[in-house]
Amino acid sequence: MGSDLNSSVHIVLFPFMSKGHTIPMLQIARLLLLRRGITITIFTTHANSPFIRQSLSDTQPNVSVIELDFPTNIPELPPGIESTDQFPSMSLFIPFANATKLMQPDFEKALNNLSISGGVNCIISDGFLFWTQKSAEKFSIPRLVFYGMNNYVMTLCRILGRNRSHLKLGLDEPFTVPGFPSVKLTLNDFESPMNDSNPQGPHFEFIVETGIATSKSQGLVVNSFYELEPAFLDYWNREFVPKAWCVGPFGLVEKTKYDQAAEKSNPKPDWIKWLDQKSVEGRSVLYVAFGSQAEITKEQLREMAAGLERSEVSFLWVVRSKGSEGLEELEEKVKGRGLVVREWVDQVEILGHESVKGFMSHCGWNSALEGICTAVPILAWPMMAEQHLNARMVAEELGVGLRILGSNGSVRGFVGAEIVEKMVRELMEGEEGEKVSKKVKEVGEAARKAMEEGGSSWRTLDQLIDETCRNTDPTHLLP
Ligand code: UDP
Repeated sequence: MGSDLNSSVHIVLFPFMSKGHTIPMLQIARLLLLRRGITITIFTTHANSPFIRQSLSDTQPNVSVIELDFPTNIPELPPGIESTDQFPSMSLFIPFANATKLMQPDFEKALNNLSISGGVNCIISDGFLFWTQKSAEKFSIPRLVFYGMNNYVMTLCRILGRNRSHLKLGLDEPFTVPGFPSVKLTLNDFESPMNDSNPQGPHFEFIVETGIATSKSQGLVVNSFYELEPAFLDYWNREFVPKAWCVGPFGLVEKTKYDQAAEKSNPKPDWIKWLDQKSVEGRSVLYVAFGSQAEITKEQLREMAAGLERSEVSFLWVVRSKGSEGLEELEEKVKGRGLVVREWVDQVEILGHESVKGFMSHCGWNSALEGICTAVPILAWPMMAEQHLNARMVAEELGVGLRILGSNGSVRGFVGAEIVEKMVRELMEGEEGEKVSKKVKEVGEAARKAMEEGGSSWRTLDQLIDETCRNTDPTHLLP
């Protein structure tokens, strides 16, 4: 479909209410709008709306935001929580995700209004919002699913869902994955219910429900690019449904001129000034961050702090974890060499700073990709969800990072300060660090090429729009 025809194409985006799922969806909005001129409507809740509106302030009026009420009086959920990063504990995830189902009638009312006033060609919604599949079917609108995962993780998990012999092994016993003999995993790379031999309960039911809805959808929009993981993408598209479309890394979409001007007029935050100072001093900085919602124990934070102190490298540590109050002592000891930040930062801006030469990361997929795109090698220290698999991908499959393991050699063990110190030095000063630094530059360059006009992601996006939106009549009314 030629881009001149695209202004009549209207796509609805519905991100899940967590930063790690919303941020890439906003990047998809930019991608579709700025590179293809497509009209976008984003659905969200009242409390999540300011973050979305602020992030897309430069794209008005071509992006509209529709706010829905987040369900109230859910017994397990404290009132007012509309985003997973506000959870006092991640154990609220399943009640929270299931509560979103109560938004279905309001979502459909709004879809109906959009249908009357011009129509919708396609819905891209988060995999966790599984019930949007039913809404899409009611209105005969194709739905694409976004999960925020790469093909490596999706493919390995699906293969292991079919071949379950590994479930009899011990937690740290390595096994190979059928079809991928070079991939070695352990049960500890997974969480319950994925590593249960007899999975059941609300979390398992949620996984099944999202999986069924996804399999009925039109396709998966994946924040990755073909050259990064060709074997895993090809395997998925040969063996499984729905089709996966790699159209990323989304974060590489250009900013608007307006946006760049606004950036220039904004005063620099203190941590960027601090990084500027490190550049002047000729010091390389390790950026330390564990995403928007990692839960790290006080004891583990203390060891991290001690390891960073002993490593003698310069570091900028963005702390979101509860229990970070004890870090004042570290700040005092490393004054001038290390900085602890407790606010929301522009992570990509930090990673893109010339002084930043290493990234200690929990390997949320957004963070790992941001490290790759800014050519900063990763020290992988996963905490939860699919981060352990991402860490394997980063260190063992792609060779763009090193890995932190527990003091007992397990991927989930407690990590002592001596390991933190050793691995930080290795990444920043050692031979292994040099190797992964070189590799991440090559992979970052490949990412840029994939997103350029004519690159693999560019071409795939053209095909995706063509196949999904070309034959749809956007004026769907309720049956
Ligand atoms: N992020 C940010 N500033 C912060 C914390 C996080 O910009 O202070 C962004 C980060 O750049 C990434 C996202 O939040 O795009 C976190 O997603 P990721 O998948 O890495 O981890 P999650 O938070 O989902 O565990």
